Amino acid sequence: MSASTSIRPDLLRDRNFIGGIWCAGREDAWLEVVDPATGAVIGRVPDSGAVDADEAVKAASEALPSWRATTARHRAQLLKRWHARMLSSAEDLAKIISLEQGKPLAEALGEVAYGASYVEWFAEEAVRAYGDIIPAAAEGRRMMVVKEPLGVVAAITPWNFPLAMLARKVAPALAAGCTVIAKPAEDTPLTALAMMRLAEEAGLPAGTVNLVTASRGNAAVTVGAWLADPRVRKITFTGSTAVGKGLARGSAETLKKLSLELGGNAPFIVFDDADVCAAVDGLMRAKFRNGGQTCVSPNRVYVHDAVYDEFSRQLAARVAALHVGPASLAESEIGPMINSRAVEKIDRHVRDAIVRGATVLTGGLRLRDQIASGPNYYAPTVLGEANEQMTLASEETFGPVVALFRFHSEEDVVRRANDTPFGLAAYFYSRDVSRIWRVSGRLETGIVGINEGAFASEAAPFGGIKESGYGREGSRYGLEEYLATKYLCQGSLA
Ligand code: NAP
Repeated sequence: MSASTSIRPDLLRDRNFIGGIWCAGREDAWLEVVDPATGAVIGRVPDSGAVDADEAVKAASEALPSWRATTARHRAQLLKRWHARMLSSAEDLAKIISLEQGKPLAEALGEVAYGASYVEWFAEEAVRAYGDIIPAAAEGRRMMVVKEPLGVVAAITPWNFPLAMLARKVAPALAAGCTVIAKPAEDTPLTALAMMRLAEEAGLPAGTVNLVTASRGNAAVTVGAWLADPRVRKITFTGSTAVGKGLARGSAETLKKLSLELGGNAPFIVFDDADVCAAVDGLMRAKFRNGGQTCVSPNRVYVHDAVYDEFSRQLAARVAALHVGPASLAESEIGPMINSRAVEKIDRHVRDAIVRGATVLTGGLRLRDQIASGPNYYAPTVLGEANEQMTLASEETFGPVVALFRFHSEEDVVRRANDTPFGLAAYFYSRDVSRIWRVSGRLETGIVGINEGAFASEAAPFGGIKESGYGREGSRYGLEEYLATKYLCQGSLA
C-alpha cells in the first residue's frame, strides 16, 4: 500500500463494522481492493455473505428503539460531530477516494466537501421534522400528524462517488431517527469503511450505523438477505436501473419503501440563441467531472445547426487540452476509468458510433501505451455528426466521450431529448426567457440545468423520473424519504 502510507492508519479498515465492532466476515472470505490506475492490490476487505448481512440487521434493529427515542437535537449534535471529523480528515478521505476510485485528488477533495455538506444539512434538518395540526373535521376532536422514523434502512451505494452517495443516504436516515445498514460497491469499500471509523469517533452509538462489504458476486446474497427481511423497512439505492428494478421486485414481498437513484441518459441542448462560450464551459463542467462517470453526465449533446460549427470547434480544442493521468499527479484532470469493463464499454460505444457515421473531432481511442501506469485510461473524446442509430444515443456511456447531434428546431430537439426511458437530468443553454420557461416545462426529467452545468447541492432535491427512479436526496424533501406520516385522532373532547 505505498500510496496509502501517508493516510492516517486507523482510517484504513479491513473489517465490517457491525454493532460498533470491527469484525471479519463469518465465512472468512476476502475481497481484494484494486487501484484502478495501476491494477495493484491496495487492500482487502470481507467478502460478506447472508450471515453477516443478518448480523447487521440484528445490530440495527437492537439499536433502533433507543436511537429513535433520542431528541432530534441530540441526533443533530452527533451528525455535526461526524461532519466536523469529515472536514478535519478531508485530505485523508480524499486520498482514499483517489486511491480506490481513481479521480484526481482535487476532485476527491471536492467530493469530501460535497458529501460532508449533506451531513451538515441533515443535522440542521433533523430539528425541523415538523408535523401538523389539522382543523378538526368534526366537533370534539383533535386531528394531528406526527412524523416518525421508518425503522431500519438499508443503503446500497455505487463506486462513482463512494463518499458522497453514502453520506447523502446515511445522514438523512440518522437525522430522521432511523438506524442504517450499508453496503458499498465492490470497487470502493475503503472510503465507506473510513466513514464508519469517523462515525465511531464522532460517538454515534453502536448499531446506529453498520456496514458490510461484499464482492460483486455476493452483492445479491447480502442485499438479498435484506430484501427478504421484514425488519428492514426501507431500501435506499443508487446505481444502475437494472439492479434498481431487481431491488423493487425483491422487496415487493415485504413492501418496503424504496428510494431509487438510477441511471440517466442526459440531453444537453445548445440553442441558436445560446452564449456558445458559456455552453462550452457548462458542458466541460457537466461532462468531465469524474471522467464522465457521473449519472448526470450529458450523454447526448444536441447543438443547433446555426452554432454547431462554432460550438464543436471550441469544444474539441478544450477537450484535446485535458490532461489524462493518475490521481497522484497534480496536473491530472481525467483519471483512469473504474475498471477494464468500463473501458471496454466506452470503446464499444465509440467504435459503434464511428461505424455508423460519427466523425472523431478529438480522442476516440484507449490510452494503453501513452499512459504507462495502467490499462484503464480512455482519451477524452468528441464525436461529431452523431445520430440516434448509435448505441451511445440510447445507453449511458459513463466515460469521457461527448457525442454531438445536430438539430434544427425546438420542437424536434425536445422530442428527441425526451425519447428515452430515462429521466434524471437535462441541460439547455438559451438566452430567450420565453423559451427557457417553455423548454424547462417540457423536458421529462427530475432536474433541469438552465444555462448551468453544475447544479448539485445539498440544499436541492436530487433525483429522477421514469426509469431513472424515484425518491429525492438532499433538501427538505430528502428527510421526508425516511419519515412515516402518522395521523393521530383524539375524540371525546368537550
Ligand atoms: P450497479 O452495478 O447497479 O451497482 C450499484 C450497487 O448495487 C453496488 O453496491 C453494487 O455492488 C450493488 N449491486 C450490484 N448488483 C446487485 C444485485 N444483484 N443485488 C443487489 N445489489 C447489487 O451500478 P454501478 O455500476 O456501481 O453505478 C453506475 C450506475 O449508477 C449508473 O447507471 C449511474 O447512472 C448510476 N448512478 C445514479 C445516480 C443517481 O443519483 N441517480 C448517482 C450515481 C450513479 P457491486 O459493486 O459489488 O456490484
